[in-house]
Amino acid sequence: MKDLVCGMEVNEDTGHMSKYKGKKYAFCSPVCKKRFDREPEKYVKE
Ligand SMILES: [Zn+2]
Repeated sequence: MKDLVCGMEVNEDTGHMSKYKGKKYAFCSPVCKKRFDREPEKYVKE
């Protein structure tokens, strides 16, 4: 799964997961997760 914040390829087992509009997203670190949680609409292109 791709970390939408920094573009890194991350494993879903890292534990840094967020949910947005019913979809799960994985992040390489708590920092990326926080950024996503703050403004998910900026990273999710639909
Ligand atoms: Zn990241």
